[in-house]
Amino acid sequence: MVHIQKVPLQGFFSVPVESVCGAYCNVKVKSKKGEDLFRVGLRIDVDTFRGTQVGVPNLLKVLAEHRLKGTFFFSVGPDNMGRHIWRLIRPEFLWKMWRTKATKLYGWDILLRGTLRRGPLIGKKLGHLFKAAASEGHELGLHAWDHYRWQTHIESMVGEAIYRELLQGFEVIHESAGTSPVCSAAPAWRITEQAQLEKAKFPFRYNSDCRGSSIFYPVVKGKTLSKPQIPTTLPTFDEVLGREGVDRENYNEYLISLMREESLNVLTIHAEVEGMSYLSLFQEFLQQLQVRGGHVVPLGELLPPTDQITTAIIERQRAKGREGWVSVQQGRGQARRP
Ligand SMILES: [Zn+2]
Repeated sequence: MVHIQKVPLQGFFSVPVESVCGAYCNVKVKSKKGEDLFRVGLRIDVDTFRGTQVGVPNLLKVLAEHRLKGTFFFSVGPDNMGRHIWRLIRPEFLWKMWRTKATKLYGWDILLRGTLRRGPLIGKKLGHLFKAAASEGHELGLHAWDHYRWQTHIESMVGEAIYRELLQGFEVIHESAGTSPVCSAAPAWRITEQAQLEKAKFPFRYNSDCRGSSIFYPVVKGKTLSKPQIPTTLPTFDEVLGREGVDRENYNEYLISLMREESLNVLTIHAEVEGMSYLSLFQEFLQQLQVRGGHVVPLGELLPPTDQITTAIIERQRAKGREGWVSVQQGRGQARRP
C-alpha cells in the first residue's frame, strides 16, 4: 500500500505524494572531477517571433559557454501573442503587468504583435534557429503552432482542431530542423483530457504539460497513457518577481533555495525574458547553481526507468502570480508500466 501524505510543493502548490524521493533517489551524477552534482531540468519556452530571433541565439551562446544543454520548446506558427494586451481590461492581468514592469520585461513589439494584423509565421523566417539548437546538442520540443490560440482557447477546442495544431507544429520543426521534436510542452501549462489524447498520437518520448512534483504516467478517463509527463516543479520569473520581497537582486538565491537535491527539479525559463532583458541574470544563475553543486540538463535526461514511474491525474488549479488556471499533477499512485 502506498502511504499518501500532503507535502507543500515548494510553496506554490500542495500535492499529495508518497515521498519526495521515489523515482528520484538516483538524481545525483558525478562531475568530471568526481564531485556529486544535482540535476535541474531546463525547459526553455519560446513563445514569440522576437524571442526566437533574439532570445534563442543569446541562450545558445550562454549555454555553449557553460557547456550546458537544455530542452527548447518552440512556438512555430503565427505570433499573435500581442493579443494578450486586450487582457489589460482584466484587473489581475493589469496587476501582473505592473508588478513585472511588462514593457521592460517583454518590449512593446512583443506586447503588440498580432494585435493589428495577423502575426508573422515564426518557423517560416526563423526555422534555421530550430536547426541550430538541435545541431548544438539541445533537445528539441514542440511548444505550439499558435501559442495565443492554445493558451486562450484550449478548453473549447475539439480533438480535430487540437490534432491539427500539433501536426502543423510537428511538421514545421521537422522540415526546418531536419529532425522531429522528441517532446512537447503545453503553452501556459494548460492541458485538457482531449489534448492529452491527441498528443498520444504523436511519437513524443514525453510531454511537459503541467506543474507538479514527480515524473508520472498520466491517467485520462481511467486509462494510463504510455508517454510520461515531466512537470515543471519551480515557479517562473514573472510569477515571483515583486512578491514577498523577491527582486532582481535576490531572485537567483531565492530560486536555488527552492531546489532539492533529493527531488525532481524542473525550471522553465522564457526566451523572451531570461534570453533577452534578463540574460545576465540567467548567466549569474548558472554560475551560482554550479557553485551550489548543481547543473542544468535537458528534461529527457531526467527520465528514470519506466518501472519506477508512478501514475497520476492532471487537474486545473490556480497558481500564485499567474493569471487563470494551470494544469497540476494530483496525487501519485504505484509504479506501473502503462
Ligand atoms: Zn509559452
